[in-house]
Amino acid sequence: MKHYDNKSNTDIKPFNCKVCGRLVTPEGAGSLHRNHCPNCLSSLHLDNEPGDRSSGCGGIMDAIGVWVRKGGEWAVIHRCRRCGHISSNRTAADDNPIKLMSIALKPLAEPPFPIERLSQIAELSGYKTE
Ligand SMILES: [Zn+2]
Ligand SMILES: [Zn+2]
Repeated sequence: MKHYDNKSNTDIKPFNCKVCGRLVTPEGAGSLHRNHCPNCLSSLHLDNEPGDRSSGCGGIMDAIGVWVRKGGEWAVIHRCRRCGHISSNRTAADDNPIKLMSIALKPLAEPPFPIERLSQIAELSGYKTE
């Protein structure tokens, strides 16, 4: 396990993803803030604010959601397995699109209500369907 003591260095050195083992390099990200694995999208809880490396937690952060920023850019929501910290991170150019889609679709695939009640709910709330 490596430790990067130089806190002022915001460039991220290549590292092996703790979750899937893939070598993560800054190249290809299209940004210096390569803070998550492009393959499984997991991250580590190192920052309190993006890039500040001020968190002493170090827990694995799972990608739990996707949201759309102003301008249509996608961002990933990470939650720390150890302390529950939640953060939002820009997606990188080489992030696994299948993984991103599966995270985005998860709530639709597992709705918290019976899917056959959708039309009934829509009717009750006055939502017009074709
Ligand atoms: Zn990974
Ligand atoms: Zn944490």
